Amino acid sequence: MELQTFRNTVAGQEVESASGRWLASANPFTGQDWSRIPRCDSEDVERAVMAAHSAFVSGDWPRMTATARGKLLRRLADLIERDAAKLAALEVRDNGKLHAEMLGQVKYLPEYYHYFGGLADKVEGSVLPSDKPDMFTYTKHEPLGVVVCITPWNSPLLLLTWKLAAALAAGNTVVIKPSEFTSASTLAFAGLFREAGFPDGVVNTVTGYGHEIGDALVQHPKVAKIAFTGGDATGARVYAGAAKSLKHVALELGGKSPNIIFEDAVLDDAVKGAISGIFAASGQTCIAGSRLLVQRSVYDEVTSRVVAFASTARMGDPMQPDTQVGPITTTAQREKVLDYIRIARDEGARCVLGGKVPEDPSLAEGWFVEPTIFADVSNDMRIAREEVFGPVLSIIPFEDEADAIRIANDTIYGLAAGVWTQDMRRAITMADALQAGTVWVNTYRAVSFLAPFGGYKQSGIGRENGQEAIHEFMQTKCVWLSLSRGVPNPFVLR
Ligand code: NAD
Repeated sequence: MELQTFRNTVAGQEVESASGRWLASANPFTGQDWSRIPRCDSEDVERAVMAAHSAFVSGDWPRMTATARGKLLRRLADLIERDAAKLAALEVRDNGKLHAEMLGQVKYLPEYYHYFGGLADKVEGSVLPSDKPDMFTYTKHEPLGVVVCITPWNSPLLLLTWKLAAALAAGNTVVIKPSEFTSASTLAFAGLFREAGFPDGVVNTVTGYGHEIGDALVQHPKVAKIAFTGGDATGARVYAGAAKSLKHVALELGGKSPNIIFEDAVLDDAVKGAISGIFAASGQTCIAGSRLLVQRSVYDEVTSRVVAFASTARMGDPMQPDTQVGPITTTAQREKVLDYIRIARDEGARCVLGGKVPEDPSLAEGWFVEPTIFADVSNDMRIAREEVFGPVLSIIPFEDEADAIRIANDTIYGLAAGVWTQDMRRAITMADALQAGTVWVNTYRAVSFLAPFGGYKQSGIGRENGQEAIHEFMQTKCVWLSLSRGVPNPFVLR
């Protein structure tokens, strides 16, 4: 089969890698390569960063008003809406996630560009009160410069948009580095910026292996900020690399999120919440509710209902509307998931569903793992402490609120948490006590352009979405004007 070719966008032009090398990308459902992307090296990084740098310091972009930037973002939103079906199909082919999920995500993207486009000209400085009567002092908010956006494979355009919409609204220029496994949709998307009317060089892309180009990007002297989403080991490396030149850094990392079911919950809803927390996207989501904490009095009932529900989940072609569980995105990730299943068994967790590759011959070419549930998990087992990033649920019993809080917070992570209860006092008490950037009550996996998202503890640094996100891509300048003639004693601080 001839591979579909995708190229990078640099300074408004479609470009191949300087070396002429390519990287093939596989379809996780068929196991076959279907496309190729440029395999870049440090020369390509230099070209992309310098294009972004020149667009930041000269040309139309720095002269454009925030209102004009907002209009461009809204025009981009319309183009995404037009191309949503095409972009979503590219994502499914690259990452194997359900078409229904990817189409839903891509169709939702315009909201982010409308929101941040609207916000662009509403970032106001202030005139400060002064304790020095002969001074007039005001603040203004300015962009940082070149922002590098590094994204993972699970939701390429959504997670890119969480950075890009705010970064561009703030007036920065950007270099995007998508995952080597799922670059196609980002490269197709980058082609829309010219059509929307963005000046060349404002948005650039560079593709290839993270270990080949990551350091060059992160440590480039002309880069002001790294906005990264990915695994914690990579995040730590990015943080250390950026520290060498004291760059701004935002990290959106992993999680081991507790989804907590109390005995007073509406159990039908809570069971569905447990399923959506871990088996949607085959567990390949940073907010996966991979630890299901269930109050002892309903533990057996909830466990058997979750198992019964999950056992009916249909695995299959992610493009088909009736498929509920798709393949794992990469073979390496599937091996990692199967390793964790072995580790859980060795540690004494009781496998009550799945635990292997499906036997159905129609799934044999794809990288599937059965929805897997372990019961009687204790929170000190590795299956409860480490991020699996696959369809593997650990069910952990607890006694009361205090016990639930202790277990839920006993983790290095703090990305999200779910609480299922009908008691409002309990809901608010739990929301206060849980160390997580997002807490859902009687729901799970809800996100919005309006709602700040990010991690506590080792799940990350910084927030995406909501009004505060635009300030993550800006810096404050304070301007002092003297209203008096004459300079007082020059040797004394004023
Ligand atoms: P990853 O860390 O392997 O890769 C993420 C990105 O970093 C890729 O683009 C990769 O090429 C790049 N990269 C690799 N080495 C690099 C280096 N040395 N320097 C710079 N960049 C480098 O993550 P992944 O496997 O693609 O994604 C899965 C992880 O992402 C999971 O841990 C998941 O929890 C996390 N995630 C977090 C969020 C969130 O918002 N908190 C969302 C989705 C995924």
